[in-house]
Amino acid sequence: MNNFKRIDQNSNAFTFQFKENSLNEIRESYRKYLKPFLSKIDNGYLLEGGRSFSQAIENEYFLTSFGTYPLLWCSNNTDQTYQIYKRFFKQVSLDEKVKSLVDYDKKIVMYCGFLVIGNHAPGYAWHVDYFPNANGYTLITPLFEPDPVHGNLLYKDTDNQVKTYHYKLNEAIIFGDGFFHTTKPYSHTKNLRILLSLTFGTDKLSHWNVLKRTIGSQSNYMILPCGHRFGTCYCLSDFSYPGHSKVQQRSNSIERS
Ligand SMILES: [Zn+2]
Repeated sequence: MNNFKRIDQNSNAFTFQFKENSLNEIRESYRKYLKPFLSKIDNGYLLEGGRSFSQAIENEYFLTSFGTYPLLWCSNNTDQTYQIYKRFFKQVSLDEKVKSLVDYDKKIVMYCGFLVIGNHAPGYAWHVDYFPNANGYTLITPLFEPDPVHGNLLYKDTDNQVKTYHYKLNEAIIFGDGFFHTTKPYSHTKNLRILLSLTFGTDKLSHWNVLKRTIGSQSNYMILPCGHRFGTCYCLSDFSYPGHSKVQQRSNSIERS
């Protein structure tokens, strides 16, 4: 990585540049699994919004709508696909930078990899990706050269000023708790807007209670701070905190499905 810097003085967000060939393997995975699926005429409605759905694509990806908003979240759904995203994470060498931003024990853990796909955005959907002291971050970078018409990232700094971050090929933005943001609305484009997104952060399960409020239900395949796949270990049982029983219920339902 190059030129890691805070986006502005008042925001929990940073940008850096990386080599374009780091994206090759993820582009290949997109072309193999997602592009053919989305190109089918019968699947055109998936990008139109207005209804919620979730389904697996050849098992390798799990696709969910962002509520009824026209945005598809395609998450890694097997270890094989998770590792493709993890290799990108390793290639851009974020570990040391993230260690200076979160409370961790031994290492930074990548929780999940996604492609976020859309072709228009009808309105604002302001949100944060993490609640205070989650000790987690999100990375976003365009998978291909952005179309000038594609919506960029609007965010509010701590003075509540709305600012714009322009997505650029070979540049990533990472942001953590308190970073209030939305896609800037844009009208239909022929070229899909495909963003690569990763979640990662602390290896301490004691932070799971805050982390799970946002990342706990974003995908079916996720690595927990302990390093195990969500729903396959008993590490969470060692922590007694409010909401613990809920986590166990979800873990069970995933194992059954
Ligand atoms: Zn575990």
